Amino acid sequence: MIRTRFAPSPNGPLHLGHAYAAVVAHDLARAAGGEFLLRIEDIDPGRSRADLVDSILANLEWLGLAWDGPVVFQSQRVGSYAAAGERLKALGLLYPCQCTRADVLAASSESGPDGPLYPGTCRGRTVSLEGAAWRLDMTRAAALAGPLAWDDALAGPQAAAPEQFGDVVLLRKEAPASYHLAATLDDAADGVTLVTRGADLFAATHVHRLLQALLNLPVPTWHHHPLLVEGDGRKLAKRRRSPSLADRRRAGEDGRALADALRAGRFPAGISRGGGVGEGV
Ligand code: GLU
Repeated sequence: MIRTRFAPSPNGPLHLGHAYAAVVAHDLARAAGGEFLLRIEDIDPGRSRADLVDSILANLEWLGLAWDGPVVFQSQRVGSYAAAGERLKALGLLYPCQCTRADVLAASSESGPDGPLYPGTCRGRTVSLEGAAWRLDMTRAAALAGPLAWDDALAGPQAAAPEQFGDVVLLRKEAPASYHLAATLDDAADGVTLVTRGADLFAATHVHRLLQALLNLPVPTWHHHPLLVEGDGRKLAKRRRSPSLADRRRAGEDGRALADALRAGRFPAGISRGGGVGEGV
């Protein structure tokens, strides 16, 4: 049975791009007689806003998108992230790092999919564990896992290339886990078989596939859908022109009609569907 999910971070009001992502995930599940889950990714202490959760649920109802089962909150799963972190530490694959963002920026000479590539400053060093972040020793991890492949429903078979991320942070100083670790563990815990999300997260899947191998997690299929973009080709962002779903809802717009329009590829003026992976989204 197919199980998809919509996994918004309540860091800002949802916009049209979120509605599109939710419609895609919902419809893929429904078309296959499967299930559609809702997971709130609320573990970023600096950005996550509990007051936005009710609005997310109301927006989905307004769009006519019913989810199956209880809403999952990452904030209730932190024990599983810590346990996975311990397993990776026991495998000798994590090391503590005290570098700040500014340190990484200053020391980095290359950039990766998430920004400046970490040059391995703390690898092999003795650093204080107090408040440290824990990074994956990518070379060791990739060697231990061996060659890995994954499948995207739109882009086809992929050879996993997690090395392009360098030594990613998996356990953060200020949060229970990084997005990579939390999302991968949750998709496995929730039995998600088709990870549906925007093409902007395509590269992240290389890391997620590696984590699945290291932690013996089941391997789903992915569906990275094109993003909605504004006239200048930039993805819709919360702080840019696109009105929030809550604003549209409160203004009396018909949410189901909006969902149908997104399904049919009819987008509001100035908004279009960008290319898929590898087409500049
Ligand atoms: N929480 C992420 C976001 O809102 C999505 C993560 C995912 O779908 O894997 O962008």
